[in-house]
Amino acid sequence: MRCILEGYATFAIGHFALGYLSGTASSRLSKVKTNLPLLLVVSVLPDIDLIFRFLQHRGPTHSLITFTVLMAPFFLIYRKRAVPYYVALLSHSFIGDFFTGGVELFWPLSHSWFGVDIGVTSLTNVAIELALFAVTLALMVGTRDILSLLHSGNHNLVLFIAFGAVLGPMLQFGRGYEQFLPTLLIAPSLFYLGLFIYSMSIELWSKIR
Ligand SMILES: [Zn+2]
Repeated sequence: MRCILEGYATFAIGHFALGYLSGTASSRLSKVKTNLPLLLVVSVLPDIDLIFRFLQHRGPTHSLITFTVLMAPFFLIYRKRAVPYYVALLSHSFIGDFFTGGVELFWPLSHSWFGVDIGVTSLTNVAIELALFAVTLALMVGTRDILSLLHSGNHNLVLFIAFGAVLGPMLQFGRGYEQFLPTLLIAPSLFYLGLFIYSMSIELWSKIR
């Protein structure tokens, strides 16, 4: 069954929050360190299917099977240090997109869609994404995790992927409903764009200096 809600998506603001909250929680539980730029990128990585348009959105790149197969080598090499990134990936499909239209969770074993729909542009979803943004920002500042975005040497340049995930909906580079970034999410989106530009700039500056 194809998703009748093609085009629905949790916006990057929500995915960053879910990836950060679940990823850092699992890193503390498994007592490993995470790289914040990488964690933020991984939390939006499944939406790479918005660029490769031959892929069904929320299909192969959102599948638990794909996540597990792709992460297997990282588990072999990095062991439990890979856990937070796997959890961040799971948060994308199992929480973010699950509640805003569903995903092809077990592709290629099953083409069924799993999830419910609270409407990605509904006030309910926007309010949840704003609340998640506020909690995430408070925790990043409170735990000083945000400092890793404000200094060079943390693989900051990978943030160009996260930058694209925020900029895409702002430029209406999306599919269906996700083209329309709700007005209330513009301010948090601009915040992340500014933060990522700063983070990547200081990394570039440190390399060419
Ligand atoms: Zn997605």
